[in-house]
Amino acid sequence: MIKPGDLHHADYKSAVTDWAHNSKDWPMKEEIEKLKVKSELELTNLSTEADVYQFKSRYLGRNGSLTSLIKLLRDVDPQERASVGAALNTFKKELEEHIETALLHARFTAKNQRISESRVDVTLPGRKLPLGSRHPITTIAATVIEIFTSLGFEVVEGPEVELDFFNFEALNIPKDHPARDMHDTFYISENTLLRTHTSPVQIRTMKLTNPPVRILCPGKVYRCDSDISHTPMFHQVEGLMVDEDISFGDLKGILTIAVHKIFDEDTRLRFRPSYFPFTEPSAEVDIQCVMCRGKGCRVCSNTGWLEILGSGMVHPQVFRNVGYDPEKVTGFAFGLGIERIAMLKFGINDIRLFFENDFRFLSQF
Ligand SMILES: [Zn+2]
Repeated sequence: MIKPGDLHHADYKSAVTDWAHNSKDWPMKEEIEKLKVKSELELTNLSTEADVYQFKSRYLGRNGSLTSLIKLLRDVDPQERASVGAALNTFKKELEEHIETALLHARFTAKNQRISESRVDVTLPGRKLPLGSRHPITTIAATVIEIFTSLGFEVVEGPEVELDFFNFEALNIPKDHPARDMHDTFYISENTLLRTHTSPVQIRTMKLTNPPVRILCPGKVYRCDSDISHTPMFHQVEGLMVDEDISFGDLKGILTIAVHKIFDEDTRLRFRPSYFPFTEPSAEVDIQCVMCRGKGCRVCSNTGWLEILGSGMVHPQVFRNVGYDPEKVTGFAFGLGIERIAMLKFGINDIRLFFENDFRFLSQF
């Protein structure tokens, strides 16, 4: 095509003349060329379907660049109108084809991207499912039970809703006994209550079986008390050994072995005289403070010792209450709090943490 300023073209002169005569024609064709170049450049930058539709509307929309040019066709010199019209038509067809191709390309690319994004990467590490763990109370109870069963004790369980007789009377704690005040009992009726210790299981067992008896009674017990070192429900493990010639020496031996296994072999013990209505003599067992090793600290109130269990020789009246002859048999009993042991072993200073079900606390065990 000949353009103004194309000095070397043979038909330059006549072209300039034409241009002068048809001044509207040349800018029109030039505009078409410019728009073509511009559109081709833009076409290479279209990536999404939305880009393509925006492009289409920029050129072919109601006010699109090409649409505007087509509208100007009526002002073109009638002689040139046909050729300009043909040029516009060709451009429009080309543009429509390009748009169709770009649309297919954009859709194909998007589909491929979706596929690659949803592909499973088998080299990635698997998602870990959170694993549960034993509650610290369960762990300590299991340890204590294992130690005593290895010493020949048999696990026996009993009801948590108990008769007054098994919880108190048979254990030498009659109705007016001051020791009842220490128990903060939940009464259900005058004669039924939530057991305050697992000792009624010992009574039930002795009433049903003849000596020798060597049992361990783990379970939940209830007392109306709640603070940093008490909860209304807690766990006890009690033990009872009855036979001929059972002595306080047996009690000391068995409990020393058990405490050494629960804590460690170097843990020192001391037996301190105490009082329980159902044992005589009675002793509380202290261990050397596990926090300060006996030097004295806040946990042991600077005494260097920690009380961990109660024990004693079974009171003759208890034997008489269950039909045993205290002249023929003797025995010892002991009881320890599972929470107390767990607090000392794990260094926990608030008993209530065990029962709040705080996942942050429990997942540490
Ligand atoms: Zn201490």
